[in-house]
This record gives sequence, C-alpha cells and structure tokens, in this order.
Amino acid sequence: MILLSVREVVVDSNEKRGAAVPIGLAAQRQRIGERIDEAITAVLNHGKFILGPEVAELESQLALFCGAKHCITCASGTDALQLILMAEGVSGRDSVFVPAFTFVATAEAVVLSGAIPVFVDVLPNTMNVDPSSLESAIWEAKRRELNPRAVIAVDLFGQPADYASISEIAKSHHLTLIADAAQSFGASLKGQRVGKLATYTATSFYPTKPFGCFGDGGAIFTEDEAKAKLLRCLRVHGLDDRLQSVRLGVNSRLDTIQAAILIQKLTILPRELSSRQANATYYDEQLRDVVQIPSLIPGASSAWAQYTILSKDRDVIAHACRDSGIPTAIHYRVPLHLQAAYRQYPTSPGGLSNSEWLSQRVLSLPMHAYLTQESIQQVTSTIRATIGPLKAN
Ligand SMILES: *Cc1c(COP(=O)(O)O)cnc(C)c1O
Repeated sequence: MILLSVREVVVDSNEKRGAAVPIGLAAQRQRIGERIDEAITAVLNHGKFILGPEVAELESQLALFCGAKHCITCASGTDALQLILMAEGVSGRDSVFVPAFTFVATAEAVVLSGAIPVFVDVLPNTMNVDPSSLESAIWEAKRRELNPRAVIAVDLFGQPADYASISEIAKSHHLTLIADAAQSFGASLKGQRVGKLATYTATSFYPTKPFGCFGDGGAIFTEDEAKAKLLRCLRVHGLDDRLQSVRLGVNSRLDTIQAAILIQKLTILPRELSSRQANATYYDEQLRDVVQIPSLIPGASSAWAQYTILSKDRDVIAHACRDSGIPTAIHYRVPLHLQAAYRQYPTSPGGLSNSEWLSQRVLSLPMHAYLTQESIQQVTSTIRATIGPLKAN
C-alpha cells in the first residue's frame, strides 16, 4: 500500500461505515506540525477554550481570504446551514430547494429547521443544481401551497454551482440564496472566491474537507451586518450582550483550539489548493480517454474535495483498486429522495434522473495536496488496465 500510511488515515464518520480516508495528514504535519503544536500549546496556556482570541482572529482572516464582510464560525457545517435557516426564520410550510445528489446534511438542516425540503435534480456533467429543475420545483412547491423561501446550492466535490443562473431564479421568486460550500472553501467563480457567491455561505472544517481542522467545525459568510450579529447571538443560545435570552438559539461554537489550528493551516491553503489542482490535471491527462473526467463550468476553479470520475464500470474499477490497495469512495450511492428519512418530501416534477444516473456511476479517487505523481500513476494504470479490456469488448 503505497498511497497511505496509518498516520495518514482519518476515519470519516460522514461515511456510514466509518471508512478510512487518506488526506495527506502526515505530509501536512511534516510541513506545519510544529507550528500547529505551538498554536495548540498557546491555547492550553491562556485557557480561553470557548470563543477565545483565536476564534475572532480566524474569523477576520477567513473573511479577508474570501473577500466577504462577515465570518461567523460555529461547531460544524451542518450547524452553519441550520443557523442560516434560523436567522432567516425559515419554518413550518416554508420550502427550501436542495439538490438530491449531495451529502445528507444539506437536507437534514432544512428538516431540523422545521421546513420542507424540495428535491431538485443536478446536471450530469457538473453534478451541481440544474437551474431548469430548480425552476420547475419552485412551481411545484407553489402548486402544493408550500411557501418557497430559500435555495441551498451545493458546491459538490469542490466546484462552485452555477450561481449566475441560480441567483437569477432565486431573485425572480424572492428566495434566499444559500451556498453549501462544505466541500469548496478556497474555490472561486469568475475571480470571486467562495464565501461571496451567495447571500449566505456555509462551510465545514470537517477533517476530510479541503480546509479541515482536527475535529468538527464550520463557518458562515455573509455581507449583511444585521444578520451577522443575529447569527452570533443564535450560536450562543440566543443570548444578547447582557446575557439575556432574547430568542431561541443553539450552542454551536468553534473550539478555540480548532481555530488556532485553522489559522496555521490557512497559511498553506493556497499552496495546497494549487497542488490539488495539479493533481486533478494529472488525473485528467491520464484518464480522459477511458472514463468521464470531472468537468468545470467556465470561470470556475475547484477546491477538489473529491476527484470523481463517471463510468458504467464503476464497481469493476472500485474492486480492482481495492485489490491493489487503492482506497476509493462512492459519493453518493443513493440520492436523498430515495433514502428512508427523505422519501416523503416533494421532488421536482421533471424527475431526478440525473441524480439517480450519477449515483450508479460516480467513483471518487484518492485526492489530497500531498499525492505524488507516482501514486496517481498507480491509480490511473490500475484503472486503465481494468477498463481497457472492457472497452475492447
Ligand atoms: C460535509 C458536508 C456537510 C456537513 O458538514 P459537517 O461539518 O460534517 O457538519 C454539509 N454539506 C455537504 C455538501 C458536505 O459535504
């Protein structure tokens, strides 16, 4: 097994079976491990574990990094989405449009807020929200007398959704546009970094995301000062400056230790993002004639949370990789509208056939900033050796 050592593996609880995911942690640790240890020790020494000075410092650095006015950190990416929906007062017969092909947290946050998710199909090439499916879903919600309130566009696998088209539709139906950027922090669209592409942006610092900490964490970005203040109140039980309970809130804060870690990691994020891009380009070159490689919309850069290929022989490739000690993953095996917890919610009347089609064909290959060309070549030659004979038939 040349791709990973035990120390490089993180157990991914977002995967039901807790799959081991190689994310280049050992190599990253070699680069900034000492600085991270010092940053953690500094927190242990000052003892301000909750909302300590590193939290505010990280928030201003992250806002600066993506050009957003306000950054509010919280306990996870899922909480970030839920806090946004709370800040918008979404509940009851309100409907929120979400892609069917995403991680479960996107729809979960909607249901937890008391509102109704309406599932929208995605495009077969970018795997992000299909604007025309969104439009039909909005009419369907109106027909059912559900009050359309918001759309959560997901930047799947690291690529920003088509925000130009989606925001036009959102505007014409008076919907709040929320970006689920859990997988895309650091990516950009037409020179604008993720964080400023929607009214609200939610991201996650879960360890396997492109910008991860050493535990759970998340953040919200917004341009709206009043909403930023409201979100800061909501994340501490709805308490105001005088510690009076002025509204219902939650307990959702980023630990100071995690903020200290992220401040150090942010210094190497741009370099890591370009390594991921170089790795994706290398994969592209080796694979474009045997499988469908990822496709980006014009002006988009990806944070490459995943490098995900499409093939009708996906399962054969996955088995061959496993036999060669190469870890792969299937994100996502079942679209949300077909899962037990979400089956009862409305879907776009055009159907969700692309989401279903993709779930049969996606395969995510090893991807992180510290993969070597040799490792990538080992993956691609395994795939070529598996697919070649199949193609000949
Ligand atoms: C990981 C993820 C989330 C949830 O983030 P957590 O920090 O694990 O709560 C939400 N949406 C998408 C698309 C994700 O990939």
